[in-house]
Amino acid sequence: LLQLSAPLNFLGMVYREVKQAITNIERLFGLLDEAQEVRDRPDARALVTHQPRVEFEDVRFGYDGRREILHGVSFAIPPGGTLAVVGHSGSGKSTLSRLLYRFYEIQSGAIRIDGEDLRELRQDSVRAAIGIVPQDTVLFNDSIRYNIRYGRPDASDAEVEAAARSAHIHDFILTLPDGYDSEVGERGLKLSGGEKQRVAIARALLKNPAILIFDEATSALDSASEQAIQDELDRIAVGRTTLVIAHRLSTVMDADEILVLDQGRVVERGSHPALLAANGRYASMWRLQQQEDRSQEQRQVYFPAA
Ligand code: ADP
Ligand code: MG
Repeated sequence: LLQLSAPLNFLGMVYREVKQAITNIERLFGLLDEAQEVRDRPDARALVTHQPRVEFEDVRFGYDGRREILHGVSFAIPPGGTLAVVGHSGSGKSTLSRLLYRFYEIQSGAIRIDGEDLRELRQDSVRAAIGIVPQDTVLFNDSIRYNIRYGRPDASDAEVEAAARSAHIHDFILTLPDGYDSEVGERGLKLSGGEKQRVAIARALLKNPAILIFDEATSALDSASEQAIQDELDRIAVGRTTLVIAHRLSTVMDADEILVLDQGRVVERGSHPALLAANGRYASMWRLQQQEDRSQEQRQVYFPAA
C-alpha cells in the first residue's frame, strides 16, 4: 500500500495542478462556470508571428443558440497598429476579446491572424501570442510574485520586479508584510480594484506578447494613477498589434481606427478627428465626457482632498 500511495499522491498532485492551470486561464476572463471546449483540428498549425495583422470578417456570434450577440462585425488591425472599440456596456466589446483569444467558436464569418483562420491554428500558440489586461482581474491564492509571474512562468525574480515597477505596483508590494512573498487572493490579502489591475498590467508586460488587449484596463484607477498607467500602456503598445476597449475616450484618440459598437453592430468607424467631424454618436459621447471631466475638475477644486 505504501508503495502504491506515493505515485498516486503524485498523480493527484499533477491532476490538481493541471486543473488549477486551466481554471486560472478561465478565471482571467471571468469564465469560470462556462468554458465550453474549443478543440484544435488534428492538422492545426502553430502560430508564429511578430507583428500580426488581426482581422474580423463578418463575425456572428452568440453564447447560446437563442440570442445572437455580434451581428456581423468586421475590422482589421494592421501590423503593429491599434484599434479602439467604444460603446455602451453590453454592446459586445469584451466578447470580441474572448473570441480573439478563442474561448468560443464563432457561428459564421472568420477571425484571422496574419491571414490564417483562427480555426486552423493551435489554441495554445494563439493564446501564447496574446496578452490581456482584463476588466476584472482575478488573483490566484498564492504569492503576489506568483501572480505576476503567471504572465511568463520562466521569468526571473528581477524580471518580475521590473514588470512590477513599470506597472507602478513595486513600491506598494514592498509595503506588504512579506513583500513579493505575501499571499494574496481570496485566502490572502485582498487588493483593491486598482491594485489588481496593476498586477494584470505587470503580467501583460512580462508576457511581452505580439498582440495586446486592454479591456477597460484602467477603469478601476483614480484619474491621477490612470494617466500614469495609461502612459505606460501607450508605451508597451508601440509596435504591437493592439485592441483597446475603452471606457474613457481620451485613451482612444490616437488609435488608427475607432469602432463604435452598439448592440453587436458597428454603427460608426473612423479616426478621432473624422468621427468628431461626422458629428454622430462618437461626437456626442465625446462632448458628454468633456462635460463630465469639467464637473470632475470643479469638484476637485472645491474638495481638493476628495
Ligand atoms: P461589453 O463588454 O460591451 O459590456 P459583453 O461583450 O461583455 O459587453 O457582453 C455582450 C452581451 O453578451 C451582453 O448582453 C451580455 O449579457 C452577454 N454575455 C456576455 N457574456 C456572456 C456569457 N458568458 N453568456 C451569455 N451571455 C453573455
Ligand atoms: Mg466589457
